[in-house]
Amino acid sequence: MRRRGWNPDVFAPMRAGDGWLVRVKPPEQRMTAAMVGDLAEMAARWGNGVIEITTRASLQLRGIDEAAFTPLAIALQEAGLAAADPALEQRRNILVSPLAGDDPTITGDPLALGRALAAGLADPAWAGLSQKFSAIVDGGGVLPLSCVRADIRLRTEARLVTITALDGTMIRADAKEAAGAALALAARTEIEARPPAPPPSPPPVGFIAYPGHRRGAFALVPPFGDLRPRMLTALAALSERFGDGWLRLFPGRVFLIAGVDEENAAPLAAAAAAAGFLTDRSAPSLGLIACIGAPECAGGDSPSRADAAALASLLSPNVPRPLHISGCAKGCAHVGPAPVTLIGVGRGADGSGLYDLAFAASADHVGLQADHRLLSIAEAAALLNHRFRSP
Ligand code: SF4
Repeated sequence: MRRRGWNPDVFAPMRAGDGWLVRVKPPEQRMTAAMVGDLAEMAARWGNGVIEITTRASLQLRGIDEAAFTPLAIALQEAGLAAADPALEQRRNILVSPLAGDDPTITGDPLALGRALAAGLADPAWAGLSQKFSAIVDGGGVLPLSCVRADIRLRTEARLVTITALDGTMIRADAKEAAGAALALAARTEIEARPPAPPPSPPPVGFIAYPGHRRGAFALVPPFGDLRPRMLTALAALSERFGDGWLRLFPGRVFLIAGVDEENAAPLAAAAAAAGFLTDRSAPSLGLIACIGAPECAGGDSPSRADAAALASLLSPNVPRPLHISGCAKGCAHVGPAPVTLIGVGRGADGSGLYDLAFAASADHVGLQADHRLLSIAEAAALLNHRFRSP
């Protein structure tokens, strides 16, 4: 189900237990309400209606029917959500500061540079770049993109851009030349093995004011990154009502509404919570990462997402986050170690999952180095609450 060296996209869907999975990468991680409406309709029409936001600010449509591959690809291109060229779509893994254009503390022009980089990728001269090529165009500001890794990082300043490759090579270029310089640096950098992703930091949630201003951005998180079409359209409507009309995506499974006046933060939070989003940093499920699990995923041994919701209601705030709960050892929702990892290994008599648990381990290592085995969710919660009880 999961292949190294390849990322699923609209031209290369991935087989999952609930049908095919298609990853959608909104250019510059932002969508208008019209784009959101189109995407929600595609998810309901050609998939099972489950939409996920990923740690790297993409969206996944689940349960896609094989017969829908071609009409879905055409619809995504017409909506401005996919490139027409499959090779370009594979490499179009460019994260741009999502608040560029609204956050006055962002330096340089990340949007223009991100577009120049995407246009440059279409040049056959760079056809030799890895299919997993990735870049970050970071203008700093209140939400810098330092939480994610990429082959090439471009830090925009007023006129110059600092370009850093994954092997540490660093060059500086004029903003007008930076896209070409970055692609040339990527082409000559040997990346034998990409290092594991950095441990996820707590996602931003709630109102984030721009320094010195009474306006800012509002960050919202769908529980476990799991959405339905009506949640997505509700969020786009909130952006039209309280923000600048764009829906933006940020790493860590976060949606952003920009251009929010401080006095609108409370009504926006109330409306978003009513639509099913987490808007409060103290939400118990905020630090839990869970894949969809059984029964939606046929590869799942346990119903991890349903069990994660139950676990969240039982866990003490002292238990360290992120806590990764996975329906099986593949660990699709999180690559790398977490302070606590639970791997589904079966089900109890009541249908809820049984889990092996390990501390400071990644999902694929829990089988070998589990600290506890065959725990129900109640047993796991009791064990964790005891181990991390207050002194
Ligand atoms: S980790 Fe979760 S989503 Fe991935 S195969 Fe296992 S159950 Fe399915």
